[in-house]
Amino acid sequence: METRNWIGGEWSTPNAGEVSVRNPSELTETVGTLKLSSGAELLQAVDAARRVWRIWGKMTGAARGECLYRMSLLLERNSEDVARLASREMGKPIVEMRGEVARGVQLLRYYAAEGVRAIGDVIPSTQPNVMQYAKRVPLGVVAIVTPWNFPVAIPIWKLAPALICGNTVVWKPAEFASLTAAKLAELFSEAGLPPGTLNLVIGKGSVLGRTLLEEASIDGLSFTGSTATGMMIGAACAARNVKYQTEMGGKNAAVVLKDANVTMAVNAVLSGAFRSAGQKCTATSRIIVEKPVYDEFVQQLSTAMLQLQVRNALDERAYLGPVASAEQFRTVMAYVEQAKADGRTLAAVEAPDSELGYYIAPRIIEGVDPEHALVQEEVFGPLAVVLPAEDVDEAIELANRTVFGLSASVFTTNLANAFRFLDEMDAGLVRVNQETAGVEYQAPFGGMKGSSSHTREQGQSALEFYSAVKTCSIQY
Ligand code: NAD
Repeated sequence: METRNWIGGEWSTPNAGEVSVRNPSELTETVGTLKLSSGAELLQAVDAARRVWRIWGKMTGAARGECLYRMSLLLERNSEDVARLASREMGKPIVEMRGEVARGVQLLRYYAAEGVRAIGDVIPSTQPNVMQYAKRVPLGVVAIVTPWNFPVAIPIWKLAPALICGNTVVWKPAEFASLTAAKLAELFSEAGLPPGTLNLVIGKGSVLGRTLLEEASIDGLSFTGSTATGMMIGAACAARNVKYQTEMGGKNAAVVLKDANVTMAVNAVLSGAFRSAGQKCTATSRIIVEKPVYDEFVQQLSTAMLQLQVRNALDERAYLGPVASAEQFRTVMAYVEQAKADGRTLAAVEAPDSELGYYIAPRIIEGVDPEHALVQEEVFGPLAVVLPAEDVDEAIELANRTVFGLSASVFTTNLANAFRFLDEMDAGLVRVNQETAGVEYQAPFGGMKGSSSHTREQGQSALEFYSAVKTCSIQY
């Protein structure tokens, strides 16, 4: 498979270089080739989106919703192909990828229906014979910049609300998820969107980002990715007065209190830390355990870890597959070396040889202090740290001792402790007796502190981001 750009309803092959994509589960397999764009293609896509935006924006929400509904059908009919391609491209286990594609279908249907939602306010005037109302209008041309770790759900949870609000879209996916992006665009090209409504430009973030942030005439930008890139993008958008949202990294804590159901906590911690090989912004990377239950928890966790199966992502039995790329492998392995040097590993888990694929054995360590890099920096791989806490006060203080604020969980059977945690955790997604994770598709998603620009994705909140308020007044 070779990628193409989809610009103004036409397919084209850019020639600013190419990258061969190897299957991270099986490095001898070439999955496809990315054809890279230059800034010129990005500007063409923005022009195409600009030309059609008033047409798309003036269509009824119901008509836009029909397009989204057709996109959902196309994705649903091809869900197994999309899931398998993504697994081969970035190494997420097939079972998880199927769930992610199903989430994409749900998101498209949810936002399709939002096209006919009552939205806006009538504001009574203080003057006679004056009618005032505030309505939501599209922003215009929106750029969507997505990461590789949720190659289907994250693009859709951005482009579906952007489109239903009447915006046109230029989508730049991450390099390590561009084959999947090209496949999605191919499917969506059958959905009857006016040409130029949705455009796909494939290329390197460093190259296209410069054009996007310095030259392109865009009205909004939604980004998910690393904190370093997100902060730079946020500053560039603010300087040009472009509405933006940035969802960034996490260092998520699972807190296990002495009254927890320990077995439940162990299962949730394993899933939170190791599904997707820990490459989730919401992955559990700090496990904070109240001292009276520490030994029991660590013992159960160590035993359970030995059951984890690290396998080829297409193997139905894989609990986790490889990490996504050579770059990811290098970064995470540097943290693994620190973990071996500075901490005690709880259980030695087997993984396939890293000559075959980018496999990293899942690892949990103890014995490092709360300021250690492994406790403070986002690893984005299958590595987590356990820390003991004297009591609930210290557990919450440790959980909040981070620059990030995305997801946090507490395991407890005490209602007062559960509510205290919900009240005192400085995180956007706070959960009780559930793993650190995202939330359902109709609920707001996003972080606090260094994890986010403080806007929200998903649900109604997404519609607020992708629209502006226009206040209208009529004298009659
Ligand atoms: P990344 O920042 O390297 O890349 C994200 C996107 O930005 C890619 O499309 C990339 O090509 C693009 N990009 C890179 N440099 C750019 C530039 N100079 N200008 C414009 N665009 C540029 O992140 P990644 O490695 O793809 O994703 C992993 C990160 O994403 C982790 O930190 C993870 O926590 C975060 N993440 C956050 C969420 C969330 O919702 N908070 C969800 C998933 C992933």
